[in-house]
Amino acid sequence: MAKKGSQSTSDDITKMSGLLLSGATMLGDICPDCKVPLFKKGNDIFCPKCERKAVYARSDKEISAIQQIYSQNELQELLRDIVLGKINYITQKLAGEEKLSEIKHLSEILDVLITVLIKIKKI
Ligand SMILES: [Zn+2]
Repeated sequence: MAKKGSQSTSDDITKMSGLLLSGATMLGDICPDCKVPLFKKGNDIFCPKCERKAVYARSDKEISAIQQIYSQNELQELLRDIVLGKINYITQKLAGEEKLSEIKHLSEILDVLITVLIKIKKI
């Protein structure tokens, strides 16, 4: 019953997908603890993995300047690569899967991943 590392990664992606879908933006900074990108929703900046608010030492002005130069493109590309890799992986699993419950489960994950992919392209 040991949890594998890859499992928490798809959990993270699902969580981040949900955030993007709910209108949150992904920032260029990462959480110092778990190295996932920080998200901003309204005025709150937080880590989706440890579900903690992030506190910046820098001013808002500096943060937004840094974000504009660096974050959006690079991080979106990174996230797109990760999502595409997962879609590939799930598709291959799905092709060899015969259990209906597994097929349903995998299809649901695929659905989320594809929605995220579309969302990333729109940003
Ligand atoms: Zn964190």
